[in-house]
Amino acid sequence: MRSIREYCGIFGIFNAPNAAHKIYLGLHALQHRGQESAGIVTSVYDEAKGRKVMPSHKRPGLVLDVFKDPTLFESKLLGTAGIGHNRYSTSGASDNAANIQPLLVHYREGNLALAHNGNISNAREIRRSFVERGTLFQSTSDSELVLHLIAQSTRRKPIDKIVDAVSQLEGAFSLVILTDDSLIALRDPNGFRPLAIGRIPRGEKSGEYAWCVASETCAFDLVGAEYVRDVEPGELIVINQKGIESGQFESYALAQNHGVSQCIFEYIYFSRPDSKIFGEMVDKVRRKMGKQLAHDAPVPTVPEGDAKPIVISVPDSSNTATLGYVNECKKLGQRCRYEIGLIRNHYVGRTFISPGQRSREQRVRSKFNTVEGVLKGRVVVMVDDSIVRGTTAKQLVQMVRKAGAKEVHFRVASPPVQNPCFYGMDFPSREELFANQHECDVDVMARWLGVDSLGYLTVEGMQGAVTTANEKGHGYCDACFSGNYPVPVEMNVSKEENEW
Ligand code: SF4
Repeated sequence: MRSIREYCGIFGIFNAPNAAHKIYLGLHALQHRGQESAGIVTSVYDEAKGRKVMPSHKRPGLVLDVFKDPTLFESKLLGTAGIGHNRYSTSGASDNAANIQPLLVHYREGNLALAHNGNISNAREIRRSFVERGTLFQSTSDSELVLHLIAQSTRRKPIDKIVDAVSQLEGAFSLVILTDDSLIALRDPNGFRPLAIGRIPRGEKSGEYAWCVASETCAFDLVGAEYVRDVEPGELIVINQKGIESGQFESYALAQNHGVSQCIFEYIYFSRPDSKIFGEMVDKVRRKMGKQLAHDAPVPTVPEGDAKPIVISVPDSSNTATLGYVNECKKLGQRCRYEIGLIRNHYVGRTFISPGQRSREQRVRSKFNTVEGVLKGRVVVMVDDSIVRGTTAKQLVQMVRKAGAKEVHFRVASPPVQNPCFYGMDFPSREELFANQHECDVDVMARWLGVDSLGYLTVEGMQGAVTTANEKGHGYCDACFSGNYPVPVEMNVSKEENEW
């Protein structure tokens, strides 16, 4: 599934020597969550100014490119606390440098930097009220609204200003906020996007830790941090020299009693399989989804004596579900074998394809290639994590046929995507979604894709797989499949209107 992109990856750290370098490593681990830009802000005491300052470095591009100059970590991004952000824009024009996060301001309480993962669904309303009061904006990003809400809060203490600001937000927001003396991390009361807390023991002195927060725990592994727990939905964590404190914030969303609704698509596609999110390993949940898919849509039966069907994944996000699928098909007595029939090129950058070659076919070909010796003459079952527009899937099917497959069957380890996301994922419009284009008729969809059969995981199967794999987890959003939006959305707002 390649037609939607993640929103953002965020990382924060406190009380860590070389904080910026650890943030850099954390952002590198979270690169899959956003490839448009990267940024780091740290907090350090400036002797000449006699106060704390927040040096920053933000640019468009991948983490390795944005921070390729090692002197940045030796002479600029100093200090023991900081935050970082990888961005893919769903709100705010992607080519506007002012939208690159972390956002940074100096206000009457000192310096304030913020990094946001999610999408604020009442952003238009908040922005309108600021515009009417004559507020000037530097960016077109929703995230700037949070800074204005904090700066204009009438509460006295800085932390109360932050609580006051986030209480007015609705939708998806996992935030890391850096002040002159604290690192603050919080998750919206619905808990749409993941956010985890980790710690790194400091020296020999037991009980002293550097604390970090990250969108996914794979970022902790790279900096040597141990996972402690998730930031709970509606929880606000304050980390400073006094230690770590937790509190809940009241909010409009809580008052409306929308409940917890963690994004199920994080398990299906967005997060890395080596991450723990919403309290459970993504790998485990994905395998369960593959296992359930074997019940909902097993491999086709071939006559005894014919070669076994081979099952291949569309790499990489489908690999884990495919393993679960194959193992369960075998347990159910279906003859099949796991094979690697598609190879993904991981080094294709955005600028690799020249403008004249930007056809769908060229883009797919530059990313994937077939292994002819594996596919030739075989009944092939392709497993993908999801289908959004269907154009990539169709192209891959053609490539597998061209490599000599005798039959091509397609299995999808999630239900048909029929609704757009309003909580931070960049989906095509409802009309552009593959399932809607064919009125969700699986036979018609199969014909359009050019496959011999097509099978999906059911909504109930998906829900069952997630709850079985993560027994302690609770409350998921599956609106893009079911249409049950946990937080009311303005359905008639176009993407353009949202991005003014
Ligand atoms: S609509 Fe889909 S992608 Fe968006 S938050 Fe809900 S489950 Fe996640």
